[in-house]
Amino acid sequence: MSLKVDLHIHTVYSDGVYTPFEIIEKAHQSGLSIISITDHDSVNGIKEAINYGKEKGIEVIPGLELSTDLEDKEVHLLAYFIDYENEELLKYLNFFREERLYRAKRIIQKLRNLGLSITIDDVIDRAKNSAIGRPHIAYTLVDLGLVKNYTEAFEKYLGDNCPAYERKIHISPTSALKLINEVGGLSFIAHPGYMKESILLNIIKAGIDGIEVIHPSHNENQINFYRGIVNQYCLLETGGSDFHGGKKNDEENFGKFTISLNQVEAMRKMLLRNTA
Ligand code: AMP
Ligand code: ZN
Ligand code: FE
Ligand code: FE
Repeated sequence: MSLKVDLHIHTVYSDGVYTPFEIIEKAHQSGLSIISITDHDSVNGIKEAINYGKEKGIEVIPGLELSTDLEDKEVHLLAYFIDYENEELLKYLNFFREERLYRAKRIIQKLRNLGLSITIDDVIDRAKNSAIGRPHIAYTLVDLGLVKNYTEAFEKYLGDNCPAYERKIHISPTSALKLINEVGGLSFIAHPGYMKESILLNIIKAGIDGIEVIHPSHNENQINFYRGIVNQYCLLETGGSDFHGGKKNDEENFGKFTISLNQVEAMRKMLLRNTA
């Protein structure tokens, strides 16, 4: 039997809709044997997932998704096998989450200036303790009846270049890589499908460990292309569903975007080499 591995999953600790506990249940039902919880700017869901995963026979690799900026474009990086209890890391992540809160406040102010009666408390209620992202604001707009649906919230207000858009703080891929290295993790370029090749090559030169080859946004050609780059530069390969939950196509993706155990073994070998 081939073991199924999904290394890109979000929970309620960022902008996903399921708890780590529920993710383990779903992973168990879908026959996944190894997963990674990769919340945006948060490691708070990892322990719960690891503990419940042990009961269900599912290995949970501690993960994280960081948003960085390069040449004015947002670049997401995935980190795996991080020391998720490292004080320095927790300090950074708290800082990023605070910055997300300030940004949400700026977005809310813009929405209010456009005549929408939404408050930051409405959004905080919705986001609970998680890193606040635009999806939380979109769902709040839906709840308040201010837009028809989630998509309209992005098309009219929150999407890039829309009237209530606000950027997150800028960190460079290089400083994110440094942070990931310091906490013993491996670093990967997330879903590069939208990225110019020159940017991809810059990040490879900056010392990334691998590329996310398997992702719902990648077609067959892109998969082959990124796999070629992985081989050419002796990088690692990762992949997963980028599951957030709540939307129909997203729900259907769970358990269907996977990599093989061999790829995880290659990561472990790289970790051994790094600590040798
Ligand atoms: P944030 O990290 O707060 O900028 O939010 C990014 C998230 O918002 C992405 O991971 C997507 O889930 C969602 N998102 C961004 N742009 C759109 C869009 N045009 N339509 C729907 N969802 C979007
Ligand atoms: Zn997300
Ligand atoms: Fe991402
Ligand atoms: Fe993601």
